[in-house]
Amino acid sequence: MIIHLKPEVNKEKAEELGKELSAVVLPRNGFFALITPNKLKAVEDKYKSLVTESFPFDDDMQLASKKYMSSVREIKIADGLSIGGNTNNTIMITGPCSVESEEQIEQASELCVELGVKVLRAGAFKPRTTPYAFQGMGLEGLKLLDKMRTKHGLKIITEIRDSTHVSEIIEYADILQIGAKAMYDHGILRACGKSGKPVLLKRGFGATLQEFVQAAEFILSGGNDQVILCERGIRTFETKTRFTLDLCGVAYLKQHTNLPIILDPSHAIGFAYGVPDLSRACVAMGVDGLLIETHPNPAVAKSDAAQQLNFKEFRELYANLVPIAKAVGRKMV
Ligand code: PEP
Ligand code: MN
Repeated sequence: MIIHLKPEVNKEKAEELGKELSAVVLPRNGFFALITPNKLKAVEDKYKSLVTESFPFDDDMQLASKKYMSSVREIKIADGLSIGGNTNNTIMITGPCSVESEEQIEQASELCVELGVKVLRAGAFKPRTTPYAFQGMGLEGLKLLDKMRTKHGLKIITEIRDSTHVSEIIEYADILQIGAKAMYDHGILRACGKSGKPVLLKRGFGATLQEFVQAAEFILSGGNDQVILCERGIRTFETKTRFTLDLCGVAYLKQHTNLPIILDPSHAIGFAYGVPDLSRACVAMGVDGLLIETHPNPAVAKSDAAQQLNFKEFRELYANLVPIAKAVGRKMV
């Protein structure tokens, strides 16, 4: 249950109540909120004089629930650039899977500038499935992304692989990406909760929707209101595609949560041939954004080579998505 305490209830008292109710104490705008386990369904009489409002829940989808906040949260990415809220924006996020060299990330940045794409994405610390594959350029890669931000005025999103470099990513990135494999990492979730920067949380490929949203609750209850969900495919019995893009899950999240949703068709299918079709379907669903991997020469990419679009393919796709977004009352930004 989420309990809004009266503005006159000070921090000390809120913390005392938090202990009594085993609740997380969260400072809000001018008051404190208590978030208790969902089994609490009503405020006891003895607390009523301290409470303005309370919201009971069936499960631990609480701060993220539409029952708490009926409209989608607006997440500010940059001055004049938001998603969610009343914006109807569908944001395009693109770039290579990994930063590989200055030349490669420069080319990717120039593509963004050419098309008016405002957010560049590339990994510097890569969570690979084998220790023998390219693990990313690390801090050097982050510095190259930082250079691209300054040079081209782009916003940067890059992922936190593990706890060894959380602070560096928080320092350099405009949006923090938590990858599918890190979705359960509480150290990362809690650090992002304290960060004050927008967080793009990817769904673990074995995570239920409930678990996915509960991971988002760690960030929200840590004090960071700016969480974006990202569906990137889940593991099913199917082996012909890398993962299965769960559009039913997206419909569920749109209906039941107040968090903007970005779709990642590249990692879902794992093959470039399917990315345009899936992207069209995603935009037609009216989602808040797309994350698509692009590379100047996908054949030589050091990670996720099979799924990255070349620049010609991406230009064509982007032109294709603009009218689809318009047809569903949205705008590609
Ligand atoms: C990535 O975004 O490059 C990545 C590794 O994705 P995921 O965490 O979805 O596997
Ligand atoms: Mn990738």
